Amino acid sequence: MITAADFKVTKAERSRLKDVNLENVPFGKYFTDHMLEVDFADGEWKTVEIKPYQALTLGPSAAALHYGQAIFEGIKAYKSADGKAAIFRPLDNFKRFNISAKRMQMPEVPEEIFMEGMRLLLQLDSDWIPARANHSLYIRPFMFSSDEMLGVRPGHNFKFMIILSPTGPYYGKPMKIWVEEHYVRAVKGGVGFAKAAGNYAAAMYATEEARKNGFDQVLWTDPIEHRYVQECGVMNVFFIIDNKAITPGLEQGTILAGVTRNSVITLLNEMGITVEERDLSIDEIIAAHKAGTLQEVFGTGTAATISEIKELCYKDYSMLFDVEKWKVSPAIKNRLDTIRYMEGPDTHHWMYYI
Ligand SMILES: *Cc1c(COP(=O)(O)O)cnc(C)c1O
Repeated sequence: MITAADFKVTKAERSRLKDVNLENVPFGKYFTDHMLEVDFADGEWKTVEIKPYQALTLGPSAAALHYGQAIFEGIKAYKSADGKAAIFRPLDNFKRFNISAKRMQMPEVPEEIFMEGMRLLLQLDSDWIPARANHSLYIRPFMFSSDEMLGVRPGHNFKFMIILSPTGPYYGKPMKIWVEEHYVRAVKGGVGFAKAAGNYAAAMYATEEARKNGFDQVLWTDPIEHRYVQECGVMNVFFIIDNKAITPGLEQGTILAGVTRNSVITLLNEMGITVEERDLSIDEIIAAHKAGTLQEVFGTGTAATISEIKELCYKDYSMLFDVEKWKVSPAIKNRLDTIRYMEGPDTHHWMYYI
């Protein structure tokens, strides 16, 4: 059992906070005063260090740089108007982190290091959590193989780290989405369910192609028929059709099991809206649009929370939505905000107070 005494804490001499305006900070641009770093070597985790945010020294042969053995998480901490600070569902991210670790043949991180380390780091940098609507402190735990060895084999040495970044609203406006039919994100048997760095690298080319054509993101489809929808960029996707919510299921392992996705499903159920986790084809979506029953389409994820989709384009068939008239997604976002900014009851105990 690791306790606070096992963490080596070195405090920054001065805080950089006064150089940063925490209002409308762009996502992932500024980092707080401290970071957590711990090495895995000789089959065990070494001393956990919390120290001033600084550059790493890494051998050019470090395996992660060559073979991409790297995973990460994304979590957010919030501050209430009266100054309480809490993290949204971090245990779920901890569990998912180790699911990713296992799939990428990496050691699991003990709960005490992940959770207690994150709590101590946040306590130290709690002044960096912005206390304003749509703002939060983004928490980025990550792990990579640090072996200095070019042979292709699972690493023996790893580094687990946590860095923190204050953030404002992520995507300001509703998105234009291109239904992707050529490139694929995830296949059955692959690593789609893992938050692996390489998934992001593999998605960039297709996303950039869509951007060049005036879209914000792609809607990924299955790799065989390009008919069944998977995820929207790096977000899970929900369709409200005929007053029911439909989101792709997790069984095939091609979809990242989002913590926001799970929270949204819970809240939809509470609101009395039926949720179906199942295959959803582009034909069904288009038929619903033609019948006038396709009511709302939105993405969910920690970074953006709920991101409304105002246009969905399949080949030359464009579906336009009047986002202003939507009811479900704004209601869900409101409920989530009430919980996260600690303005109402947290019946599911989602907030983890630091
Ligand atoms: C992180 C991520 C999500 C969203 O997961 P949350 O836990 O809700 O942040 C969805 N899809 C992909 C591909 C992701 O990497």
